[in-house]
Amino acid sequence: MPHHVGLFLFNNDLRVDDNPTLARAAAEVDQLICLYCLESRQPPSSLHAPGYLSPQRQTFLFQSLADLHNSLRKLGQRLAFSTASPLDIIPQLITQHDISQIYCSENTGHYENQIWQRLLKRYPMISFTRIASHTLFEQADFPFPLAELPDSFSKFRKRVERLDIKPPIPPLKQLPPSPELSGYWPEIPVILSHSMLFNGGEREGFAHLENYFERNLASSYKQTRNGLDGMDYSTKFSPWLANGSLSARRILGRLRSYERDVEANDSTFWIYFELLWREYYQWYAHRHGKRLFDFSGIKTSKPKTSFYPERFQKWCSGNTPYPIVNACMKQLNSTGYISNRGRQLVASCFVHELGLDWRYGAAYMEQQLVDYDPASNWGNWQYLAGVGADPRGHRRFDLAKQTNIYDPERAFIERWGGDSHDGSLDSVDAADWPIHKAQESVQ
Ligand SMILES: Cc1cc2nc3c(=O)[nH]c(=O)nc-3n(C[C@H](O)[C@H](O)[C@H](O)COP(=O)(O)OP(=O)(O)OC[C@H]3O[C@@H](n4cnc5c(N)ncnc54)[C@H](O)[C@@H]3O)c2cc1C
Repeated sequence: MPHHVGLFLFNNDLRVDDNPTLARAAAEVDQLICLYCLESRQPPSSLHAPGYLSPQRQTFLFQSLADLHNSLRKLGQRLAFSTASPLDIIPQLITQHDISQIYCSENTGHYENQIWQRLLKRYPMISFTRIASHTLFEQADFPFPLAELPDSFSKFRKRVERLDIKPPIPPLKQLPPSPELSGYWPEIPVILSHSMLFNGGEREGFAHLENYFERNLASSYKQTRNGLDGMDYSTKFSPWLANGSLSARRILGRLRSYERDVEANDSTFWIYFELLWREYYQWYAHRHGKRLFDFSGIKTSKPKTSFYPERFQKWCSGNTPYPIVNACMKQLNSTGYISNRGRQLVASCFVHELGLDWRYGAAYMEQQLVDYDPASNWGNWQYLAGVGADPRGHRRFDLAKQTNIYDPERAFIERWGGDSHDGSLDSVDAADWPIHKAQESVQ
């Protein structure tokens, strides 16, 4: 009997529950290497990202990896953690262990897909398996080919919302053992110094999911979902969904059992509705590939924006003339999270009030958000910048009006220090003359 050694490359599927690709690997090989690579200089999705991972995003990721490592140990496995590129480490493992099968869950990240394609090309003798585990549907479920993905969310929703969705598969009970790995394998870093809004890992994700439904918060989601501050106004499933510690099907399964056993109403429907938004952007990213990061998005002409480094810096640090935006940005910088309403407001301000190139805003969120997800982040930014799936062209939010509706007492602005800013947007004019000095000399 031939002896098969497989390699499973973890990515945005950091779980043992409802992980069809891992289940496939477990069924097909005699030994398995479970690998996660975090390149120390991880490239951003586009060339425009100003930095890499915020402390909150990094901490959440390391907590998720540590939890995965523990789960794997209970199954007789381990997580091999590397700071090298998969393109460097996988060839070594192939040679050392005579690997015949490589597995990875599907991914919407352009960089991750490039790595996969390069491995495929380089090793034609190896069998490569990739299965979708990040979505509710599979491509084959749709009554249209991917190339004909509807050009707006509403059209997409109407065509898919009544389709059957496969139930999640149970957590694995056993995995093939790992071969002995030689060489240096770093420990998964532990960061203790950040107070976190969310703790990473599959166990934490499950506990949060249970807690959310046990407290019956789902029954009032539609009324509360536009809140700005606090844990309970929206589901907060996004951090665990983004790195795959929880699967979308597991969440939907729990929602359906709540609807069956407790209550089904407009609010519970609306959670499904929002999960379909996420779903749309995942398929949108698959459909448009690299264009998710293009200045002109999926349109043919580029937006009329420019780049002002000073405005960008002020937006990032929450020092603009718009208190609601400042409050949101300070909240983001301190916690790694902002509400959906907050994201819409800061993005609209970035594009319309500050006249900046939307890709820099998206790249900043990529760096900061604990729930960063390529498809949802870049897809939503495109939508708000008028170069995405918005039939109306672009959305400009009236920031004063929005403040009156969503923060009428200004409690959120006060809590996050939104009123503290230096009052001006630019210190130089269009010809680079210092604005204050010019005014002084006129007086
Ligand atoms: C500019 C901008 C950037 C964004 N970047 C991200 C991102 O990087 N990662 C991310 O997960 N979401 C992103 N979103 C979408 C949305 O803001 C978050 O999913 C949501 O705020 C997460 O909080 P929640 O889990 O409590 O959401 P809930 O309101 O409870 O919604 C439940 C789930 O539905 C999905 N969802 C809700 N709204 C959206 C939406 N507009 N687009 C896609 N999925 C949605 C999420 O998976 C969410 O967890 C972005 C939105 C905007 C406007």
